[in-house]
Order: sequence, then structure tokens, then C-alpha cells
Amino acid sequence: MITPEARPYAKTGGLADVAAALPQALARLGHRVTVVLPRYRGIDTSGLTSRPAAIPFGAQSYPVVFYGDSPHFSQKMGTAGVMGSTGSVTAVLVDAPDLFDRDGLYNNAAGDFADNGFRFALLSRAALEYARLRGRRPSVVHGHDWQAGLAAVYLKTVLAGDPVLGGVRSVFTIHNLAFHGLFPLDLIRWIGLPESLRHPSGLEFYGNASALKGGIVFSDAITTVSPTYAREIMTPRFGFGFEGVVASRSADLVGILNGIDTDTWNPSTDPYLPDHFSSTDFKGKAQTKAALLAYAGLPSNTTTAARPLIGLVSRLTNQKGFDLIAEAADELMALDATWVMLGSGERWCERFWVDLAARYPERVAARIGFDEKLAHLIEAGADLFLMPSHFEPCGLNQMYSLRYGTLPIVRATGGLDDTVIDADADPARGTGFKFQDESAAALVATVERALESYGNTRRWKSIQRRAMAEDHSWDVSAREYVKVYEGGRTDVQRPGHANGAGRGAPASGRAGGPGGEASGEDIDGIRKSADTDRRKLRSDRRGRNTGTR
Ligand code: ADP
Repeated sequence: MITPEARPYAKTGGLADVAAALPQALARLGHRVTVVLPRYRGIDTSGLTSRPAAIPFGAQSYPVVFYGDSPHFSQKMGTAGVMGSTGSVTAVLVDAPDLFDRDGLYNNAAGDFADNGFRFALLSRAALEYARLRGRRPSVVHGHDWQAGLAAVYLKTVLAGDPVLGGVRSVFTIHNLAFHGLFPLDLIRWIGLPESLRHPSGLEFYGNASALKGGIVFSDAITTVSPTYAREIMTPRFGFGFEGVVASRSADLVGILNGIDTDTWNPSTDPYLPDHFSSTDFKGKAQTKAALLAYAGLPSNTTTAARPLIGLVSRLTNQKGFDLIAEAADELMALDATWVMLGSGERWCERFWVDLAARYPERVAARIGFDEKLAHLIEAGADLFLMPSHFEPCGLNQMYSLRYGTLPIVRATGGLDDTVIDADADPARGTGFKFQDESAAALVATVERALESYGNTRRWKSIQRRAMAEDHSWDVSAREYVKVYEGGRTDVQRPGHANGAGRGAPASGRAGGPGGEASGEDIDGIRKSADTDRRKLRSDRRGRNTGTR
């Protein structure tokens, strides 16, 4: 498995959680997984096995040191200790200090690193070289996001006749199609790939080369992280110009919902919480809410204990719908709720939250930064969790929220649509609150609906219990990945066909919502025009689509 990030080594977003939990779930099924990622600044390799290697790029080579292959690493990744299982997870770190020993994974305050194309070409090629040097043929090479997209390209070109790697099956997972891994066409030569790839049928994408395109075009199978997102990315609205490339591989594309690590995110055992709780005993949740208020610097008293608390943990980008929140700020602040927001990202958005907290010091706390403990406290201690994303390939936070009885308020897109059932539209099965329209008015109306429900304690508790009882573990999804690795059919629907249901979604398809739901076929029709939407999202892409997640 090739990934630019994986817990516990490096994390900027959900991919790191997936790249840690999926291998462990595969190991529980008896598979041996090697996870290859860069050795970024701060990752301690003392006492680990090291092996120097020269990574070939045509006639040139680049020196690296591989760290890993030791029991210590397996433990850190959390090898599944299932009786009778022969599975294991090993992490291998690619050490190339000039490329990876930096402040930040993909960028720093000045923006994306200019050499991201080469950095992740090296990761992809080095992962394959590691397998080659070991001399053991892997069953499959699985790359995650554009940073690993070139692995499939190497496999299908310069390594096609390699005795170890020739003909090895490749799988590519799109975690977010908004990031394209663009680099100058000349780099194709520098990274040892054939000049023939400087062509639209190869890596060329509007005058640049794209590592994302490489992964999509050259892999044997493509997955993305929810059934709905698999359909969405074949439309101009969500395709970011790649909809045609994706559609050309639709026969080999499946949407498999991410799972969550149910050990790390467990209200009964979470070490970050002052007290634990379950769906039969909510006392610990109330204590956690009090602790959250105190930790966030808000008044913690009987008034704030009773007032609904809305939490957010997010990268601060337009993708996540923060423009809608900003537009609706006055109306949202007029509601009787407390807000705790944790995140970092775009400057305007950080400033927006800092200003809001300054204007409403009794009711709004904003923490700019990355804080694992606060993230857990928010998931557990809040009453509601807000994710009004314009698009959301899968989203993990809404699943963490469900598990902690913190009811999600989401926009009906991608994995959010697949995992949350609206409690008003479907009272018997509802687990949260959902809206379609990408508008401030729809957001406000849905928050109002959620707060109204909060006022009805009996109903609220029953929705919480239902949400907490859902199974979002990796076990089901890992089995689907195995089918993809083996080249077989998966149980999830292929895009363009009838709706594929996510776990927690009704058997008939997607989780229900107010105002009727769209089928895969008319998904285009319910969106605003592609031009308008693209304009709205352009700021998300501008200058960031080579590296930042
Ligand atoms: P994305 O991958 O698009 O950022 P996801 O919902 O899939 O969104 O995953 C985000 C992950 O990153 C979650 O585990 C979330 O808790 C975590 N996260 C995001 N921002 C922060 C932050 N500021 N501090 C701590 N954890 C964060």
C-alpha cells in the first residue's frame, strides 16, 4: 500500500486514518500488508532496521534509506492480533531528507512545495523498488490519491517486464478528486517515464502532467470512498475537469465506503475523555460536555450544560461549506446554541472563526490548529456535529459523531449522504439532519430543525441510541477491498447503475432526506449549473491542487 500519510506517523486528514485502519482490517482477514510512506520530519526511526537503496529514474538514481520491517513498526501500526490469523501490517518509511524532512507534508506558509511532483514520484517508485529488492511478488499494489498515482504508471511501463513486479495488479483509490497532482510535462523524463506519456492518452492534462490521471488511467481497478461520490465524480459538478477521465474507467470503478477505527473512536474506552459512556448510560457524555466547555474556555455551568452544543472539526476550506456558515453567521448566532470549532486552513476562514469567537465569547470557541484531544472531546461532548460540505468524498467525522451519539447535521453529498439518515424525513430510522440545497437558508433551516429535536429529550435519546448502534467498522469494507484486489465483483453497486447503499443506509439506497432524494441518474439535474458551481469552488483549487489535501 502506498500512501502519503498514515497514522500514527503523519496525518493531515482522513486519508491517514484510512491508511492505518484498512491495513489492520485486512490483517484481521489474514492478509499481509506493507504500508509505504515518506519519513517526514519528526518521525523517530531510532532502533529500526534500515536499508539504503538507489531508486532508479531512467539512467539516473536517487538515494534513499528504507526504515522498517521490524516488529516494533508492526506494533506501532497496530497489527491485528486475531487468533489464527497470519495477517500483519508493516510500515516502511522512505527516508530522503532533502525531499521529506520539511515543515509540513505538502506545503508550508508559502504554499505548495514546488517539487511535489518529484517528491511523490520518488515515493511511488521507491515503494515499488522496495518490493523488487525484497524479491517477493506482491499480490497487489494499492495506491492512495495522486501522491501514489504514478505507481500504476511505473508498473505498466518501465516495470512491465520486471521479474518481480511485471503484471502485478494495481488498485488506485481516489480520496478526493479535487487534488490533481499537476507537474510540468518535462518531469516525465526526469522521473524515468517514457516520453510517449506526454500525450492526452498518457499523463497529459491540459498542458501539464497529472499524477492523479496516471492513477486513474493506468490502474487495473479504481475505487473511491463512497458509492455516491463514485457517481458524483463522473459529473462536471464534482469532476473538476476529470469527469471524462473517470467516466472512461467507469467499468472498473467502485465506491466503497470508508470504515472507522472503532477502537480509537470508542465512547466506552476513549482515553481522551474524562468519563466514558454508552447508548445505555449517557452520564459520561454530560461530563464530557462539561469538560469540553472548560477545555475550550467557555463557561461550564447549568445553563451551558442544558444549551445544545454544536461541534466542528475540519480542514478550513470552502469544500467543507464554511462559506455557507459565514454567510449564515448572523442567523446561526441568533439561535440558542453553543459552538466549538477546531480546525486550520484558509486564512479567511481562520479569521472568520477567530472574529466570531471574539464577538460571542460566551457561546463560541474557535481553536485554530491540530489537536487530537480536542477533536475527541468535540466528537464526544457536543450534541450536534456540523458538516455542511459542498462535496465530501466520504467524511469520517460524521461517522465518529454517530458513534458518540453526537448527531450530525450534513449536506446530502458523497459519503455524508450515504451514512446519515434524516430524522425528520425518516423518523423510524433517522440518525441526523440533512439538507440538499447549497445555500445559507437551507443550512439555517436544518440547524433549526436539529435544535427543535434537541428540545424533545425522549425523541433525541432514541435517535442517539440508533446512531450509536450503527456498525461503521472496517470489517465490511475491507472484504470489499479484497474482492477488488482479487479482481472479482464487489457487492457495492457500480456507479451509473442503481444506488449502492452504504452501511447505515436503507436497503433501497441512500439515506433518506427531506424533499425527496435524487437517484444516481438525475444527480446532475438536482445540482446547480456546473459553471456556477465551478466558480464557487475555484478558490479551493487555485494553487493548491498539486499537493495540499
Ligand atoms: P478530510 O480527509 O477531507 O480532511 P475527513 O472527515 O475524512 O475529512 O477526515 C478528517 C480527519 O482529520 C478526522 O479524523 C478529523 O478528526 C481529523 N481532523 C481534521 N482537522 C483536525 C484538527 N484541526 N485537529 C484534529 N483532528 C483533525
